[in-house]
Amino acid sequence: MTPLEAELKRLIAIDGPMPLTQYMGLCLTDPVHGYYVTRDPFGAGGDFTTAPEISQMFGELIGLWTASVWLQLGSPDRVHVVELGPGRGTLMADALRAARVVPGFVAAARIDLVETSPLLRQRQKAALKIFADRMRWHQHFGDVSGAPLIVIANEFFDALPVHQTVRTPDGWHERMVGLDRDGQLTLALHPEPLRGFEGTLPPSLRRAPLGAIREWRSDELIVEIAQRIVEARGAALIIDYGEIESGLGDTLQAVGRHRHVGVLHSPGEVDLTAHVDFAALGRAAAKAGARVCGPLAQGAFLTRLGINERAATLKAASPGRACEIDAGLARLTADGPDGMGDLFKVIAVADQQLGSLPGLE
Ligand code: SAH
Repeated sequence: MTPLEAELKRLIAIDGPMPLTQYMGLCLTDPVHGYYVTRDPFGAGGDFTTAPEISQMFGELIGLWTASVWLQLGSPDRVHVVELGPGRGTLMADALRAARVVPGFVAAARIDLVETSPLLRQRQKAALKIFADRMRWHQHFGDVSGAPLIVIANEFFDALPVHQTVRTPDGWHERMVGLDRDGQLTLALHPEPLRGFEGTLPPSLRRAPLGAIREWRSDELIVEIAQRIVEARGAALIIDYGEIESGLGDTLQAVGRHRHVGVLHSPGEVDLTAHVDFAALGRAAAKAGARVCGPLAQGAFLTRLGINERAATLKAASPGRACEIDAGLARLTADGPDGMGDLFKVIAVADQQLGSLPGLE
């Protein structure tokens, strides 16, 4: 039994079953036993690999995207480049290196990293040590101050706790984590239906079949980001896996050492993620007054930003790395099960005055 599992069983024995969303939050970011708090999960020896760890081209193109938004903002003397969940700091390091081609951008940039894991903060500090004088860490996005801002989030929203709500004959019920007769963790439904839930669903999902599962996340963070961008000017770029249209179904998955396990397996020691509902992000950001661009597939976005040309330049400079560069290019842009090209999507949120955003429109 993992230490977090013992703690969860104790909590449930005292307070009763907890919503699955609370379970996911504790598994990932419990300050003592949380998955991200206790380990560096990335890379071949870890649990999963992300786009910036696959190829430097990913962070480089995002760096150019960021610098071009800064130009459109009128090249202000100061711009807050905010990254949510920066992992090992690889994306930001690649982005700032590439963005040096835009004169004045790096000098104007203040780097704000939103990261709960002390261990990953150390990794980020090492990767970004040449920017130590202009870098700050924050526990929450709401702690970031200053204007204007450009927010980047790659594989961050999928790690935010998700609710699962299940349709039954008497309405939609929240999925809970409780204890079975042997005292083991088990999934169950809350006995009472959620009042008014059907009305919060997009019209296409109303009157779903019995047994249907609707996954959803709180809009709080995207609304906060959109409101700040509208007030302070700027843009946000969100990249993750998920769907362009809101849908039904269970996408919550647990992964440890590149293998899938059950979602109640080894709490705190395996990663838990669920697909991102891009339509829901877009609706919430638009309602908060922001301009929404996308969503579109990652492959199309990176191609429009010039990933093929960047790969050709890198190969010309280092012919010995051609295979590795081509493999990274394919992984980032290919459609289907071997690539991230169509599984991953991109959406941007901008203030209403900002001109057209590269790669998105
Ligand atoms: N963007 C990185 C890492 C993605 S993994 C990459 O692409 O490689 C998710 C990251 O978000 C980790 O850095 C994790 O510690 C952080 N994280 C997860 N939940 C968080 C939360 N609620 N608040 C802040 N950071 C969080």
